Amino acid sequence: MKRLGGCLLLVLLLAQTAWAHLDVHFLDVGQGDSIFIITSQEQTMLIDGGPEDAGWEVVVPYLEDLGVEGLDVVVATHPHADHIGGLLAVLESFPVERVIADGQLHTTRTYERFLTAVLEKDIPFHTPKRGESIALAGVDEIRVLHPGEDFLQGLNNNSVVLRLVYKDVAFLFPGDLEAPGEEVLLASGLPLGAQVLKVAHHGSKTSSTLGFLQAASPRIGVIQVGVDNVYGLPDEQTLENLEALGTTVLRTDEKGRILIRTDGRDWQVFLGPPLDLNEANLGEIQALPGIGPVLAQRIIAYREKGPFRSIDELTRIWGIGPARLAELRGLITVKEVEAGCVSVP
Ligand SMILES: [Zn+2]
Repeated sequence: MKRLGGCLLLVLLLAQTAWAHLDVHFLDVGQGDSIFIITSQEQTMLIDGGPEDAGWEVVVPYLEDLGVEGLDVVVATHPHADHIGGLLAVLESFPVERVIADGQLHTTRTYERFLTAVLEKDIPFHTPKRGESIALAGVDEIRVLHPGEDFLQGLNNNSVVLRLVYKDVAFLFPGDLEAPGEEVLLASGLPLGAQVLKVAHHGSKTSSTLGFLQAASPRIGVIQVGVDNVYGLPDEQTLENLEALGTTVLRTDEKGRILIRTDGRDWQVFLGPPLDLNEANLGEIQALPGIGPVLAQRIIAYREKGPFRSIDELTRIWGIGPARLAELRGLITVKEVEAGCVSVP
């Protein structure tokens, strides 16, 4: 019995350490924002959903590919369609535990449909104020930095601004906050420092004042922006300000999906979409973390008997257990297998 207990304890410890990191996915939704967060305890949060078509074409399939079955928190930073449009598809496709929004009144058709969907699905809806925290297991804190008690002029300036802390690493998500909002935030005295900054308002020069960027001092600045967008974003001024601080800029129009993974001390950046296990070549599979030439060969051999239908099948391969699979989540996917490939007796 004692031996069995020891084994159980070991299994529990392995299970606990299997996902000892935080993943922050900056989706490539074209001109708009959408950020998916999965914590070390597999709690999930989606900040914005990009424009409406991207909700169906990018966000929902992406989350399904990751095996997401529901979302613990959905945040609508502000009512503009490039942020909340895609949330319509998300609310249709996944059970959502809580919705957090800025609470500004806005009468666009998209925002009305969004609020109606939240009401119809009876999802708890909350409009937080500066200083509140959003509970999400697996991170140390998600603090609401903005808006305050009073709304400022302009929808962007009342964006929900969040600062997420996981051990020694912080992320700052300012939505589309512009200079007047940044000024209020700076005056609030709340900590703004972050290793990773989601650059506000798609890199517009109406945001990212030098003072705000200096307070954040990001090592990485992620700009979610559409290829050849009509607004000409990001602005040169913003890029210059970030360069002056020595911030590494990563743009979704150039890199596609951007995944930042941190263990709370260091971080890794993965660029581009997840690797399709059924299409990837030996070299690409071999380059995945934790997969050397031997395991890559075994994966190819397994695939030759029939395509992968889910990434969980990897654990059927000798040498790949739950811990290794956990490291690969977010980096690999299995695209839907064509019906014609399935032989029906
Ligand atoms: Zn926007």
